Amino acid sequence: IFPDYLAALDLSLVGKARAAGILDLRVHDLRDWTTDRHRTVDDTPFGGGAGMVMRPDVWGRAIDDVAGLTTGTADGGGAGAVHLVVPTPSGETFTQRTAEALATEEHLVVACGRYEGIDARVAEHYRSAGMRVSELSIGDYVLNGGEVAALVMVEAVGRLLPGVVGNPESLVEESHGAAGLLEYPVYTKPPAWDDLEVPDVLLSGHHARIHRWRRDQALRRTAARRPDMVRALAVDALDRHDLEVLAEAGWTVVDGRLDRAAHGAP
Ligand code: SAM
Repeated sequence: IFPDYLAALDLSLVGKARAAGILDLRVHDLRDWTTDRHRTVDDTPFGGGAGMVMRPDVWGRAIDDVAGLTTGTADGGGAGAVHLVVPTPSGETFTQRTAEALATEEHLVVACGRYEGIDARVAEHYRSAGMRVSELSIGDYVLNGGEVAALVMVEAVGRLLPGVVGNPESLVEESHGAAGLLEYPVYTKPPAWDDLEVPDVLLSGHHARIHRWRRDQALRRTAARRPDMVRALAVDALDRHDLEVLAEAGWTVVDGRLDRAAHGAP
C-alpha cells in the first residue's frame, strides 16, 4: 500500500539493471484491487486482539493479476511459473542461500504486508494452487511493513543475476559465500591515514601471502563475530593452518565438528 517506498529500486546497480532490461521490476499498489469507496485493504482480526489484518480477497485479486493467473500470461505455467515471497518476521530466515535459490526463478511476486500482516489463507491458497510460496524474515526484529524487506530481497537476489554487478569476481570471496566465512577486512589508498597503516602484506605484491593473510583474517573475524558460522564449517574443507588459526581463536575439533575449546576445566 506504499508503492513510493520502492522508488529506491531505480537507484544504483539495481536501477541500472532495470534500465538495461536485465531485471523487469514492477511495483503495484494493492489498493488498485479494492472494490469499495474507501479502498479498504484491512479489517479487524477474528479472535480479537490489537491491530488490523490484511484481507485475503483483496490480496487474492492482486496476486492473481500480478502473477498472470487471470490473463493466462503466467509464462504458460500457471501458478507453477511463479514464486510468491511473503516477507514476515514469523518466516524462515532469508539468507544468502535463499537469495541464490530465488535468483534462479523466472518470476517472483513479493507481497508486502502492513499492520498485523496478511490473512494466513493467502499463503495457504497459493500453495494449494501449486505456487511456490516462501514466507521469509529478513531478521529477528519487526518492521512496520514489508517494503523494506522487499528492497533487501530484491537487492540481494538481483545482484546475483549475470550482468548486474560489473565484476562477477567481486561476488566470489564475499561474506556468506561458499566458504562459509565473513569477508576479510579491506583497505584502499592512502596507505597511511590518521596514524593507521595498511597491513604490510597487502603492499607486498606477494599473492600467495596475501591470500593466506586474507583467509586468516576471515577465519579470525568469523570466530570473533559469528560462532554459529564457525560451528557450521565443514572440517574437511579446512587445512592445517586454518585449524591453527581457529585454535588460537579458541575453537577445536571435537567429534569431527568445531566447538569452543573448554577453558579452565579441571
Ligand atoms: N504481527 C506480525 C508478527 O508479529 O509476526 C508483525 C507484522 S509487521 C508489524 C507488518 C509487516 O511488516 C509484515 O506483514 C511484513 O510484511 C513486514 N515485516 C516486519 N518485520 C519483518 C521482518 N523481520 N522480515 C520481513 N518482513 C517483515
